[in-house]
Amino acid sequence: MVPRPPLPPNPPAAAAKSSRRRCRYRLLPAPPYITPCVTRQYGDYIGCPALYGGMMALPVTEWQGRTSRLWAALDPALRERLAAASLHDAVRLGCDLLRAEQEEEAALVQLCLQAPTDKKPEAASWYREQGNREFKRGQYQAALRLYSKAASHELPGSPEVSLCFANRSAALLHLGHFEVCLEDIARAESHGYPDRLLPKIMLRKAECLLCLERFQDAQDILRVLESKIALYGVMTTHLTRLKKLSQLKVKLGEKEKCPEPAGEHGGIQGEPEIWEENSSISGASSSLSLSFDAERGRHLVASQDIVPGQSLVKEEAFVSVLCPGESLPVQDGDTAWDTRVTNADLYCHHCLRQLLASVPCQGCSYAKYCSKGCAEMAWQQYHRTECSLGALLLTLGVFCHVALRTVLLAGFAEVSRLVAWSHHGDKNLQNPEARCKPLSEAPAAGAGSRGIPGCGSNGRYLSSYQALFHLLPHTEQHSPEHKFLCTLSVVALCKQLQAAGLEAAMLNQESPQQWSKPKACEKTSDELSPELKTVAEAMLRHMLQLQCNAQAITVMQELGPGDGAVVDKKPVRLATAFFPVLSLLNHSCCPNTSVSFSGTAATVRASQPISSGQEVLHCYGPHWCRMRVAERQQLLSQYFFECRCQACLKELESGVKSVVSIRNSFCCPKCQAQMQGEEDTLCCSNEACATSASRDHLSGRLQDLQQQIKKALDLLRVRKADQAIKMLLKCQMDAGTFLSPEHLLMGEMEDHLAQVYATLGKWQEAARHLKKSIEIVEMHHGPSSVETGHELFKLAQILFNGFAVSEALSTIQRAEGILSVHFGPQSAQIQELQEMKACLSQLPRNILQRT
Ligand SMILES: [Zn+2]
Ligand SMILES: [Zn+2]
Ligand SMILES: [Zn+2]
Ligand SMILES: [Zn+2]
Repeated sequence: MVPRPPLPPNPPAAAAKSSRRRCRYRLLPAPPYITPCVTRQYGDYIGCPALYGGMMALPVTEWQGRTSRLWAALDPALRERLAAASLHDAVRLGCDLLRAEQEEEAALVQLCLQAPTDKKPEAASWYREQGNREFKRGQYQAALRLYSKAASHELPGSPEVSLCFANRSAALLHLGHFEVCLEDIARAESHGYPDRLLPKIMLRKAECLLCLERFQDAQDILRVLESKIALYGVMTTHLTRLKKLSQLKVKLGEKEKCPEPAGEHGGIQGEPEIWEENSSISGASSSLSLSFDAERGRHLVASQDIVPGQSLVKEEAFVSVLCPGESLPVQDGDTAWDTRVTNADLYCHHCLRQLLASVPCQGCSYAKYCSKGCAEMAWQQYHRTECSLGALLLTLGVFCHVALRTVLLAGFAEVSRLVAWSHHGDKNLQNPEARCKPLSEAPAAGAGSRGIPGCGSNGRYLSSYQALFHLLPHTEQHSPEHKFLCTLSVVALCKQLQAAGLEAAMLNQESPQQWSKPKACEKTSDELSPELKTVAEAMLRHMLQLQCNAQAITVMQELGPGDGAVVDKKPVRLATAFFPVLSLLNHSCCPNTSVSFSGTAATVRASQPISSGQEVLHCYGPHWCRMRVAERQQLLSQYFFECRCQACLKELESGVKSVVSIRNSFCCPKCQAQMQGEEDTLCCSNEACATSASRDHLSGRLQDLQQQIKKALDLLRVRKADQAIKMLLKCQMDAGTFLSPEHLLMGEMEDHLAQVYATLGKWQEAARHLKKSIEIVEMHHGPSSVETGHELFKLAQILFNGFAVSEALSTIQRAEGILSVHFGPQSAQIQELQEMKACLSQLPRNILQRT
């Protein structure tokens, strides 16, 4: 229980920059066996690879259906040839097939119409009107997003684009993003903002400068503004502006009289991390070494004792592609335009930083950037080839897109060198003994002295295209049908590239500065050029590699409008990437590391002590705390291996039950003992009771319960907190009659209750419920897990807001200890915890003593 602290004369929060700290809320992970879709689980958060993004990673289902029908209709002999074909031959056969089956390509073109990425001026004006509507309603966040959508549809150089930026700057001013507001005003000015409207944005600029305490600049603007207004003569529309101007001048006068000391922003710095890079593996710590054996392939081993929290790998993605997210625009043309917000609206296409006021691509409506710099960099490196193919890339899925961008980044020279090398390697594999080994496990021609594949001639393993090329494609293990789908997708994409006249740019035969639109190809030949066939072969390899080596870049995304007292957060998959060094880590269901992301960079930290000689392991998603061994093994089968980690071995021994099934079990409706049994009928474990119940019945109740919880959350969303509480309490009562008290759903309900009370400002109630949720989370994930760390972070904020000073301080301490191990001392969360601590310690001593 939280003792009610006496209300201090000056609320402690007043010492902080904002008077109330917003609580960061995250939805608790759902118990795995209830929802097979794992998007709300921590697996995503920890950064599992392809596993949970399968739906978006592969081409749209219609195209998958077409290729699988085509596959089934193929001549059996051809099917056999395709199944056994090398990547080189697969591309050749795929080309022949697509030439013969022209309607397949036509169908693909049709499918692309569902995901348009070109600019549509009529969409722009519609979005702008919607933006204006939201703006008038005071919904500035929504207005901001709509103006950004509008800007992305305006043709470059059109006068409307300047209006978009100007409107957006108004929304930014209201949201308090002054620096970004100034950027948008500058954009409006440089895009030909009409002269007659200039006073409007100049006034806005002055207001921004004033808020930023740049008084001299503000005064200069005001002087220019006055002369402008004199020049135009006083018109009625300017009268209000003049009034505002005089108010601003008064404000300015006051500010100048009592200049405030310059604000000391974010003065708290975490301790710098100790980091010494490995001399033979780029991006890895010097406390690791690269090993290789037949069973485990390449893997990383501790070469000295490692302490929890120590950084082990810091790697920039070789390539990353933003996942479009759940809502692709699927509406037909005659209905309204899609106003849903996707990842493409929220994050920079190039560096994955969060977008506030995006800079649209000049050519398409899809790519949006955080800055002009990112837009230019992306254009030079890959987007000049991708820009006009946006719809096709969305249709063919993220894996295909990553494959294309990989070869674009590598450059044709390097691609053709390695493809040629792989053919040479193929020949070396003709002897039967070596055949069963995947290509890259054969000693590499010209590889380093140590003979570990992927290493350069000097024996160094770099985060390079060469290393990426050596990741296992598992050509022989993929199903022939899957290989067929990948082949046809890649070939169709290359044919499109050729038809769109992009081949020269792709093969780097054109100066990168060339911004002109490519002209359509003159020749109508259906035959892919030999160079593009080489490119297609490399892309096919990358698509197959992605199934085992794709790394999801995840972030905690804020849900909802973001202007409430409580912020919902959930982990989302942001991008799919190749990290050649990170890929060296093998999987374990009980890993000894934890991965976090910042932009396109990944950091791996030890999550527990690792002694010298031990392998460094990372979880690909199926964690022993979240799934039973059978489920884990099933999910891991896509990686073509059977997990033999300690957790799996232990659980596979007969008689050892998974912690997941014990904790997330049903309990007896009569005596509350655990229900047992693997069959359709479950029996009470208390022999004296002997109650039985059907599994289906209990599962049905569980589903009903989840529906009710969802309804309660909907009530919270429309600010009916009291009703939400009533409903959640009823759910809790109901759950108590058939779920084990340790069930994760029990924790989830406590977490939701805490959230509702927090929105009402009832901090003590909120803390009480959150503590119960933490107990359950600790039981499931362990006291030093990242999950527990997040819950403690929330608790710290609630205690802080409720002025429970000493308890807040001890909770901050615990949260800090756990989160710094997983995210490092520089992470945003640690910074925030330290700010809270600093704020609390500035409280008058007498208050501290009383609590
Ligand atoms: Zn950027
Ligand atoms: Zn573009
Ligand atoms: Zn395992
Ligand atoms: Zn019983």
